Amino acid sequence: MGLLDGKCAVVTGASRGIGQAVCVSLAQNGADIVGLDIDFEALEGTKEAVEAEGKRFLSLKADVSCLEEFQGAIKEASSEFSSIDILVNNAGITRDNLLIRMSSEDWQKVIDINLTGVFNGVKAVSRAMMKQRSGSIINISSVVGLLGNPGQINYSASKAGVLGITKSAAREMAKRGVRVNAIAPGYISTRMTDELSEGARKALMDNIPIARLGEPEDVANTVFFLASDLSSYMTGQVLSVDGGMAM
Ligand code: NAD
Repeated sequence: MGLLDGKCAVVTGASRGIGQAVCVSLAQNGADIVGLDIDFEALEGTKEAVEAEGKRFLSLKADVSCLEEFQGAIKEASSEFSSIDILVNNAGITRDNLLIRMSSEDWQKVIDINLTGVFNGVKAVSRAMMKQRSGSIINISSVVGLLGNPGQINYSASKAGVLGITKSAAREMAKRGVRVNAIAPGYISTRMTDELSEGARKALMDNIPIARLGEPEDVANTVFFLASDLSSYMTGQVLSVDGGMAM
């Protein structure tokens, strides 16, 4: 018996990293999974891992920054599964540069995927969730959305914006049984952080009280908690999973 038995979870950016770990964790706790990614073929590994847990996995190709594509994917998911109970807005990118060198394109691209992508997701599932009077939406923000970071004006603005969406959507939908929370991960060991230089990695350790990078599973465990009824009295919250960086 899992706490998510009979539930269906949509996870964006599901093909690797944190998104993949979230899919596996939710499946281990009983949920069927709809994995959304801009890279359809790359979803195969996640599909295999979820099916190995005995749960169903539907792969869907969608660019989260396009509302029509997101809504189309949710429509397809809804015809496969009786309800959408959980949405994890996880897809995200970086296009780092110092302010004076950052192009408008790099600003806009990050805002389109990381911020508008979350708006699109919340919009795509909220009507049905309010109608069924239950649902849990989890938005993946970042420690950088709380603290800022040189070279990441676009990314930190997008991730701070995600907290605004989370709190406003939580207030709008609380009475209809829909909870909306955010997670602010610190530095998690994925392809996104593989790109850090040895020097940057060393400097980072001085700012992480727990003195190691996090694992995707550290974030996935918190997603599971927020997705399940274990957190039924929580909405509009931001949980840091960052080794103590933002205490
Ligand atoms: P990752 O780069 O390993 O994976 C991102 C996934 O999103 C990929 O599967 C990619 O194909 C998908 N994706 C990218 N653009 C998309 C789009 N337009 N539409 C649909 N899918 C798209 O990243 P990760 O490290 O696993 O990060 C996942 C989330 O966690 C991101 O929102 C990221 O900002 C956030 N985060 C990561 C860290 C970290 O240290 N890794 C820290 C804080 C927050």
